[in-house]
Amino acid sequence: MLTADEARTLDWDKGDGLLPAVVQDARDGRVLMLGYMNAAALEKTLSERQVTFYSRSKQRLWTKGETSGHVLELVDVAGDCDRDTLLVQAIPHGPTCHLGTQTCFGDTHWPPVGLLARLQALIESRRDGDPEQSYTTRLLQGELARCAQKVGEEGVETALAAVTGTKLDEEAADLLYHLLVCLSAAGSSLDEVLAELQRRRG
Ligand code: AMP
Ligand code: ZN
Ligand code: ZN
Repeated sequence: MLTADEARTLDWDKGDGLLPAVVQDARDGRVLMLGYMNAAALEKTLSERQVTFYSRSKQRLWTKGETSGHVLELVDVAGDCDRDTLLVQAIPHGPTCHLGTQTCFGDTHWPPVGLLARLQALIESRRDGDPEQSYTTRLLQGELARCAQKVGEEGVETALAAVTGTKLDEEAADLLYHLLVCLSAAGSSLDEVLAELQRRRG
C-alpha cells in the first residue's frame, strides 16, 4: 500500500494534477474501471478505504458509490514504474458500472485464472440451495467425507489421464471443481490456498 509520503512523490505534474487510476477487482483480477485521482482523492481513498476519484465532468471529488451505494472497498494502491499511473485493487460492492454491468468493460472479459475465483464464489452461493436442484448443493450439504472421496477419485483420474494422454483437460477441470467444493465444505477457500502459495513465494 502506498504511504502518504509516497503519494507525495508521484508525478502529479505530468497530467495537471491528475493521475489515471486503473481499478482492479482484488478477488479475481478483472479490470473494473478507469478513473482519475488528484492528490486529495488519493488521500481520501487511503484514509477512508473507499475509492475516491476526481471527476472531470463534475469537477469535484467523487467517491464511487456515493449515490448508488456501489462503493469500491480499498484493498491496495500502488504506483507504476514512472509514478504517473495508479493501480487500485478493490472489492466492489455491487456493479461498478452505472450501466449495471460489473465492470465498465462489460461482463465478458475475465482473466482466465479469475474464473477459478468466480467458480469458488458460485460454489459458495450454492451452500444454502436446494439439493434437488444442484449437485454442488448436494455435495456441500452432505458428508465431508464424500467430497473428500471425490477429490481422491478425480485426482487419480487426472493422474491416469496425464499418463495415457487422454482427456487430461477434462479430468483436471473435474479435479479443480471438486477441490473447490471440498475446500468450501471444509470451511476453507481458494483465497486461503492462494495465500499459502503467496507465503511460500516469500
Ligand atoms: P455512484 O458513484 O455509483 O453513486 O454513481 C454516481 C454517478 O457517477 C452516476 O450517475 C454516473 O453518472 C457516474 N458513474 C458511476 N459509476 C461510474 C463509472 N464506473 N464510470 C463512469 N461514471 C460513473
Ligand atoms: Zn507510467
Ligand atoms: Zn461504466
